[in-house]
Parts: sequence; structure tokens; C-alpha cells
Amino acid sequence: MSKTILITGGSRGIGRETARLCGERGWSVAINYVSNENAAAETVALVEAAGGKAVALAGDVAQEKDVIAMFSQTVTAFGPITGVVNNAGIVGEKSSVADFSVERMRKIFDTNTLGAYLVAREAARLMPLSKGGQGGSIVNMSSRAAALGSAHEYVDYAGSKGAVDTLTTGLSNELAGDGVRVNAVRPGLIETEIHASGGQPGRAERVGALTPMKRAGTATEVAEAVVWLLSDASSYVTGTFLDVSGGR
Ligand code: NAP
Repeated sequence: MSKTILITGGSRGIGRETARLCGERGWSVAINYVSNENAAAETVALVEAAGGKAVALAGDVAQEKDVIAMFSQTVTAFGPITGVVNNAGIVGEKSSVADFSVERMRKIFDTNTLGAYLVAREAARLMPLSKGGQGGSIVNMSSRAAALGSAHEYVDYAGSKGAVDTLTTGLSNELAGDGVRVNAVRPGLIETEIHASGGQPGRAERVGALTPMKRAGTATEVAEAVVWLLSDASSYVTGTFLDVSGGR
């Protein structure tokens, strides 16, 4: 069955691979990005080459008007939304809590927590059967950091994902009887550009070697889990957390 999926932060990393796998299933994908227009255009081409339809939508998930606009632009492009991947996220530089600036913490929580809640709110306004939607699946991108705490690296990031876990539990209970499933994926150490953006380009390889599987994961390995949760194959799964973390 064809689906219309909105992926926030779909231009690179885990979001890009999720978009590509959605394309392989012939689904239509709206790829949100914040600034990297070229990466978003490349992802559109990957989805189309895989057999799906795609459009790139600029917008900051921390800005209410941008989030409202990306949902309405998705509907205009492809019709009613049946899946949302609440994926956009950032980390800060490696640091201890005692050294955090308020600006840094605001940016992390604005993007990862407020952004995720704004996206979830719009999904909750459009997707439920009782609101005229078609039902579907919301997948929140959390992190194993939510449980591990990320001491001396980024406890703010870890906390911002803890709030995403709570969102997953609460919203899944609100929408379970209204045709919408809500789950979270919690990746461990995954090879993407997010580590370099936090000033630690070799982090996934270095820390990944310390996991039980002795390696970092790939964006594709996370995307496979996301696409399963988006698909009808997971039709009785809601309010749950899927760790994709090599056992750590
Ligand atoms: P990434 O490669 O750095 O990609 C980040 C994506 O988010 C990009 O598409 C970026 O858009 C977008 N983005 C950033 N800020 C945004 C904003 N304010 N509004 C809209 N889009 C925004 O990151 P990734 O590793 O794929 O991470 C994706 C998600 O997985 C994040 O939530 C992250 O916390 C989570 N995660 C990652 C790992 C890991 O090890 N990689 C582990 C656990 C959880 P532009 O291209 O325009 O910059």
C-alpha cells in the first residue's frame, strides 16, 4: 500500500537512509532539512532512483511556523500523511555539565525536544481517524544516550532524548485508539556526520569498538528499523522502543 511519509532531518545520515528505503517501497517522501539544500536534493534523487516520489522542504523544527508549513506542503505534494519520522537532531561539543552555556542548552532542547514535540503535535492534529486523517505511524528518533546519560560528553543531548521517550509513551497512549501508532528507535553509535558536527569525527568508530558487537552501526541498519515501524508489518506495535545499538 502506498504511503506518504514526512521525515524531519531527512537530508543526511539516518534520515536520508530512511528516505531511500521508503523510496524502495514505492512510498512518497517529504524530506525536511534546515540548511543543506544540496544534501536534500541528493536525497530526493536517491528516493526517486529507488522507485519512490520525493520533495525537499526547508524548515527549522524548532520554529512553529516552519513545522506547520512542512506538514501542509507535504499534504499538498502527496496527499494525507500516513507516516512521520521525527528525526531531526543535533549534538553539542564534548563538555561536562558544569561548563554548559545556557545558549548551548537552549539550542539542544529547542531542536531536539521542542522540535520533536512540535512535529508530534502537528502529526496528532492531522493523522488521527477522529480528525479526518487516515491513521498511520509516528517514529520518534531517540537515542541510547537517554538511558546512558552521556557523562562528560553531552548530558543535555541525553536529556533532550529522554523527553522524546516520554513523548513516545504519552502520545502512543493518546492515539492508540485513534488509528495512529507511536514508537521510538534508540540508536547507539552510528556512522554519520553528527559526530563531526560535535567536534568528534572519529567517535562512532572509537566508541563503537567498545560495544558488545565491537563496531559502530550504519545509518541503513537504523533505517531498516524505522521503516519496519512505519510499515503495516508492525501493526500491533505501539508505545515501544527499539534499540539499534549493537548490544550497548
Ligand atoms: P546528521 O547526519 O547530523 O543529520 C542531521 C539531520 O538533521 C540533517 O538532515 C539536518 O539538516 C537535520 N537538522 C538539524 N537541525 C535541524 C533543524 N533545526 N530543523 C530541521 N532539520 C534539522 O545526524 P544523524 O546522525 O543522522 O541523526 C539523526 C537523528 O538520530 C538525530 O535525532 C540524532 O540525535 C539521532 N541519533 C543519532 C545517533 C548517531 O550515532 N548518529 C545516535 C543516536 C541517535 P541539514 O542537512 O540541512 O543540516
